[in-house]
Amino acid sequence: MRFNDILGHSKALGIIGAYLEKSRFSGAYIFSGPEGIGKRMVAKIIAAQLNCTGQVDRPCGSCSCCLKIQKETHPDLHIIQNGQSQIKMEDIRGILRQANFRPYEGAVKVFIIDNAHKLNSEAANSLLKVLEEPPKDVLIILVTHKPQNIIKTVLSRCKVIKFSPLIRAQLETVLIKNYALDKATAHFLAFYAEGRLGLALRLKDTPLLQEKNKIFDSFILSAKPLDHNIMNQSKEQLQVCLNILASWFRDIYLLKCGASDKETIHLDRHSDLLKLIPRFSFKQLDDIMATLSESSLYLEKNINSKLLLHNLGAQLWKA
Ligand SMILES: [Zn+2]
Repeated sequence: MRFNDILGHSKALGIIGAYLEKSRFSGAYIFSGPEGIGKRMVAKIIAAQLNCTGQVDRPCGSCSCCLKIQKETHPDLHIIQNGQSQIKMEDIRGILRQANFRPYEGAVKVFIIDNAHKLNSEAANSLLKVLEEPPKDVLIILVTHKPQNIIKTVLSRCKVIKFSPLIRAQLETVLIKNYALDKATAHFLAFYAEGRLGLALRLKDTPLLQEKNKIFDSFILSAKPLDHNIMNQSKEQLQVCLNILASWFRDIYLLKCGASDKETIHLDRHSDLLKLIPRFSFKQLDDIMATLSESSLYLEKNINSKLLLHNLGAQLWKA
């Protein structure tokens, strides 16, 4: 966990750095921006930077403080996260209590409230005082991809820092350099995740890369019906399958338009994609992509997924 990991967020980091220096490393912030782009990781890296005991290049990533923050076991790092449901009063009571104590081990206590838009009104209101005047050596970071759902009184007490996804090529470089991924995998993840580092890292340990080639080989390249394994998947898995199909047809469309191979998501299958260009007209590709996007919506609404895939298959084989 080093600053290298967050290449591309330099503007946001510059703003935070200036604020932190002015406020003597305390204050309340909202990190806002699309899901999965590394906001929470930046918050942790700032916690590490403020508490690192290394002599140069803080956070050093190797002192005991940095390691504990990375593992989220440091006594001065408090992360509040609450899966699907609301963040309630009892979840943040600890912040209100802990904020008044001096740091145990490090220099600054850091509280990160992940998915802060899930704070219910009672919890949000109880935070107002500590957000207004955070005690010395206390940094509170609210992380959210839905700032519009945070009550105005909370918003107005925090400095809002906006984050954007990385440029896809930047993310590809980060994945190769910092996560030792091969070029084909890094390229696919960077493009499929649309520059969102957090999402790319979550996907990297899933069988997505093999799955996407399996779907391509069996369903698109050889134009065979979807096999039962795909048909019987859960709604979530089917949604992934539809997204993958859409990404293949997006690539065929782009290549047919004359886009460079680097623009394709599935660079590893570039030569196979080129073979498919004559098989589909622009009209057919438009129709297929419209069907895929409709299918996605139907799936959300729990419409019979088998029928849906059958219809989709029929349209593809016709093509
Ligand atoms: Zn360190």
